[in-house]
Amino acid sequence: MAKIKEMPCGVCNASPPSDAHHIVQHNQYLCIPLCKDCHQGSFNGIHGQARIWKVMKLDEMDVLNLTLANLFR
Ligand SMILES: [Zn+2]
Ligand SMILES: [Zn+2]
Repeated sequence: MAKIKEMPCGVCNASPPSDAHHIVQHNQYLCIPLCKDCHQGSFNGIHGQARIWKVMKLDEMDVLNLTLANLFR
């Protein structure tokens, strides 16, 4: 968890600290680092319209994949 927050945003690469977004609610292991905008922004956020996610052609599983790749590098 602490490590996730020290990683840059998985969508736009904004520098840390990031929020930890839980892909599966209450599953602390399935989380990804997101900046405030890609997380909770009403326009770009995954909890909003997720516009930047569509522009970057990413979904939560893509970002999880990248996150795990970085963690185990
Ligand atoms: Zn971001
Ligand atoms: Zn979230």
